[in-house]
Amino acid sequence: MTRRFEGDKLVLASHNAGKVREIDALLSPFGVEVVSAGNLGLPEPVEDGSTFEANALIKAHAAAEATDLPALADDSGLAVEALGGEPGIYSARWAGPDKDFMAAMKRVEQALEGKDGRRAHFACVLALAWPDGHAETFSGRIDGTLVWPPRGERGFGYDPMFVPEGLEITFGEMEPARKHAISHRADAFKKLVRACFAE
Ligand code: IMP
Repeated sequence: MTRRFEGDKLVLASHNAGKVREIDALLSPFGVEVVSAGNLGLPEPVEDGSTFEANALIKAHAAAEATDLPALADDSGLAVEALGGEPGIYSARWAGPDKDFMAAMKRVEQALEGKDGRRAHFACVLALAWPDGHAETFSGRIDGTLVWPPRGERGFGYDPMFVPEGLEITFGEMEPARKHAISHRADAFKKLVRACFAE
């Protein structure tokens, strides 16, 4: 049986300001106080899992244990079809220690040279873990196409080179509320809310 979230406070197990902003907005209708692991000064655990799900669980369990509160973690990334799913779980790491996503996008573009097709998807796994070790996970995705050069100043990460299927603008050009309604994170979030939060 899926465990429901009954508390009024949640730790967001992320140090990524872009993600914290998006998840905070997604959680705001539920009257849950959200504190981020970054603001609490929690250390970032080593993400040595081989899947988005494994890494989301590592982060959620670490934050729940450290704070004695339920913790929500997001592990996500860009999977490019012609690159066999890369950068995938290495999406953040392709930006290097300086978190330079322009460089990461260039690396994707260079890797695509001479390859057929520019299809990609963003994937997201949300893990909600409790201090007693119980956890639930939910997956989401959005399919699209990669464009070059990158367009738009909004969003974060690889957003400026990703055009969602059926649309013509990149996530980087899109109103945040519109991205929040259709993204991989929103898809996973709907499943989390249905299972753990909704009346
Ligand atoms: P994580 O913190 O290890 O899950 O890293 C996820 C990385 O995937 C982020 O740093 C971004 O580079 C990328 N990513 C995940 N979600 C998005 C998104 O919504 N837009 C753009 N890039 C994303």
